Amino acid sequence: MKFVRYQAGTQVRYGIWEGETVQEISGSIFGNFHVTGSKHKLSDVRLLAPVEPTKILCVGLNYRDHIEELKEKIPPVPSHFLKPLTTVIGPEDPILYPRVATRVDYEGELAVVIKDRIKDVPESEALRHVLGYTCLNDMTERDLTKVQGQLTRAKGFDTFGPFGPCVATGLDPFKLTVRTFLNGKLVQEGRTADMVFSVPFLISYLSQCMTLFPGDLISTGTPKGIGPMKVGDLVEVSIDGIGTLRNTLKAL
Ligand code: MG
Repeated sequence: MKFVRYQAGTQVRYGIWEGETVQEISGSIFGNFHVTGSKHKLSDVRLLAPVEPTKILCVGLNYRDHIEELKEKIPPVPSHFLKPLTTVIGPEDPILYPRVATRVDYEGELAVVIKDRIKDVPESEALRHVLGYTCLNDMTERDLTKVQGQLTRAKGFDTFGPFGPCVATGLDPFKLTVRTFLNGKLVQEGRTADMVFSVPFLISYLSQCMTLFPGDLISTGTPKGIGPMKVGDLVEVSIDGIGTLRNTLKAL
């Protein structure tokens, strides 16, 4: 099933996306919901970021080929950081090129959408608390990552956290392929089986530190092939079973 959040006219609703149709639902996608019977054509609605997280946790250095391209070492524990909620934009929304930026990179990633309020969840039980998966583009000011001791500024600019287009349920997080396209050209292709730290391990590890809430995101790192974008470029992050997150880089 593919959950979406969408705007139709002035109304914002959750729905189930099937082909060219969005069926409105009421209730909570994290608990009980029902199909209202109201339907829209996909082309008649604006898809929004599919959930409203309380936090976005991102894991860096989680694919061996990406660690090699950055000439880094495999970290002994997950290297993670938070993106502020002001980074959130949805499908088709513009990413804004910061005035102070000198190199802005895409990073296509699989993001986990948490289903329940959880803390200290064992790895063996972690996947029970996943609602589904989405595509996230961990936009990065690459030059700043080299001069700061941490990543808040480099990863935290407004609009630097596009995700969507939906939350897809029932996927196996060990068997997905993450692809990124820049202006239609394939630039990243990574298999989640190659992650250093798996999805259930990451959920367990991160929940040892902070309580995770329904809708919180864990973005699981980017594979090899990161690269810069220029104003006007189209970036697409695509994962089978989820769909394609599409955004264009615009000048502020
Ligand atoms: Mg990243």
